[in-house]
Amino acid sequence: AMTEFTTARLIQMFNAIARAIEADKDRLSALDGAIGDADHGVTMDMGFAAVTQALAGLDPVTTEPTQVFNTAAKSFLNAVGASSGPLYATAFMRAGAAVKGRASLDRDAMVAATAAMAQGIQDRGKAEPGEKTMVDAWLPAAEALQAAAVEGQSLQACLRAAAKAAEQGAEATKAMLASKGRASRLGERVLGHMDPGAASAVVILDAMAASAT
Ligand code: ADP
Ligand code: MG
Ligand code: MG
Repeated sequence: AMTEFTTARLIQMFNAIARAIEADKDRLSALDGAIGDADHGVTMDMGFAAVTQALAGLDPVTTEPTQVFNTAAKSFLNAVGASSGPLYATAFMRAGAAVKGRASLDRDAMVAATAAMAQGIQDRGKAEPGEKTMVDAWLPAAEALQAAAVEGQSLQACLRAAAKAAEQGAEATKAMLASKGRASRLGERVLGHMDPGAASAVVILDAMAASAT
């Protein structure tokens, strides 16, 4: 059975994301090397390393979940100069706003926080589905997440459904032309290549699902 996400568990979840991103750093940079500037693994790793460090400075007993997300947002933004910096900073800020005032997060709160992340990324970057960005992973993930929640599935099952939808969404970016970000300058040369931001979204959602036991 799912226990609630306390502040301590939420911090552990961010640490798990950081480890997963670090493990996939080279693959993510290689994907960015094909259609961007080859730094996506490095930037995401720097961002989540900074998040891990900042969260280690919080007292889990006196800190509310909303503050964990807000601290993650601030440290990610400060550490990442690339386009993913403000996108994930907005995602974490929105997640924080979605759980404001709660002492711990139940399934519905975690679903709301994750859906708010996807919405934040879309609002900040203004990318529509089909433009070959991380939105093509995050949007189907949010839809699958909410569908699973409506069906009454556990948080882990909801997050696994989200991660699976993100994976399919990332796969689908191979066939897309890019009209946002660096890849938009390359025209048809981007065909056949997966968007690196969509790929890292899968890594993040997989780590979130694995944390939700
Ligand atoms: P940079 O392109 O500045 O080096 P990164 O390599 O960290 O930044 O991130 C690149 C990823 O950012 C892309 O693969 C894409 O998924 C995402 N991205 C770029 N612009 C947007 C946008 N406007 N909306 C959503 N995602 C975007
Ligand atoms: Mg890049
Ligand atoms: Mg860059």
